[in-house]
Amino acid sequence: MFSLLPPDQPEGEAAFHLAEALPRTPDRGNRAALLQDKVPFLRQRTLALAVAPLARLGIDVLAGQFVYAQRIEDALSRASREKQSCFSFDMLGEGARTAEDAKRNLAKYAVAVAAAGRISPQRHGVSIKLSSIHERYDAPSFPRIRGQLFERLLGLSRAVAASGIGLTIDAEESERLALQLELFAELSAHPELSGWAGLGIAVQAYNTGILRTVERLAAMARLRVACGAAPLCVRLVKGAYWDAEVKRAQELGLEHYPVFTDKRCTDLAYLAAARLLLDETDTLFPQFATHNPITLGCVLALAGTRRMECQRLHGMGESLQRSLRRLAPALVMRVYAPIGPRRDLLAYLLRRLLENGANTSFVRQAACAADLESLPGVKPDVLG
Ligand SMILES: Cc1cc2nc3c(=O)[nH]c(=O)nc-3n(C[C@H](O)[C@H](O)[C@H](O)COP(=O)(O)OP(=O)(O)OC[C@H]3O[C@@H](n4cnc5c(N)ncnc54)[C@H](O)[C@@H]3O)c2cc1C
Repeated sequence: MFSLLPPDQPEGEAAFHLAEALPRTPDRGNRAALLQDKVPFLRQRTLALAVAPLARLGIDVLAGQFVYAQRIEDALSRASREKQSCFSFDMLGEGARTAEDAKRNLAKYAVAVAAAGRISPQRHGVSIKLSSIHERYDAPSFPRIRGQLFERLLGLSRAVAASGIGLTIDAEESERLALQLELFAELSAHPELSGWAGLGIAVQAYNTGILRTVERLAAMARLRVACGAAPLCVRLVKGAYWDAEVKRAQELGLEHYPVFTDKRCTDLAYLAAARLLLDETDTLFPQFATHNPITLGCVLALAGTRRMECQRLHGMGESLQRSLRRLAPALVMRVYAPIGPRRDLLAYLLRRLLENGANTSFVRQAACAADLESLPGVKPDVLG
């Protein structure tokens, strides 16, 4: 959405304020007031792309589209009817602001992991944001909280490994990448987790250091396997925080953006990283998460018969998945399935809306090519 707006114009500023403030506004009344306050500043075009769907369709409809279930029990029962897919459950409630939030989020994961392990070991997994399990997960606090955060992560990893399912540490803002990699390196070398083939991490191709990151992960995986341990899993994504990364770099007056600013560079970096990952399939298991059919087609061509899986977000790319099944029936498709009550949805929903509204998104380009400018009627997976 923001890429459509001049940042120095009132509507650009209003959009930024809205995107930042909405997820932090706890109750429906204040959210409505906030929308009423900011929406008049936003241009018609912007409204059509991102904010209007939120206001018009309402949280309930959007939740139905993008959120898999409100409780883990319902999610597992739904997943048991969708036999052709594997799932990675994401317990919504990101960005713990207090120690209580973090504790609550860890408890939600403990319940989900036990239930998923009981019902369907091997097939499922969970995805977790480190920011959801520690209220001070940021670079300045890291030296002080590192030990505590690692203990929480290790405790959760032990439980996930014991349940026989997988765990992926989601990729977050670039400022947290070095911290995430440091914790992951320690986790991957931990003797108690050596026999577990479900330990994974997500990395972002829009990050200008993506190839170095992949090389570092490949080195960790080689070391692990050389010591007789199981391979690591690596999920490659393009990155969901592009607008925020650009804005933050501008605020800090950085000399270089941490992310590519040309979408074609991200697309190309994705393929270069895919190639590196596919060259390492003896020691790591590559997982390709994208809804872009061109990116996916290139990955399939690069992969040939090598081991890998494809992933999509619940509510997007279903028909792309159907086409993929016809092309490659043996290929595993994993669905990233957010779970949670409506009050925990907003941050997640906004990320999905920003992605689908951005004029660089393949969804948007397809919509323009097909002259489907009458958004918001366009469905997220128009191509699939
Ligand atoms: C299963 C799954 C798990 C995911 N997990 C994570 C995660 O852990 N962390 C995370 O950050 N994201 C995650 N994502 C979201 C992902 O990063 C993308 O935002 C989303 O998939 C859209 O990318 P695409 O390839 O599907 O579509 P495309 O339309 O091909 O690509 C859109 C992406 O291109 C990039 N982009 C857009 N504009 C520009 C520009 N001007 N310059 C440079 N790059 C640009 C952005 O990354 C944007 O999201 C996940 C996605 C999936 C499917």
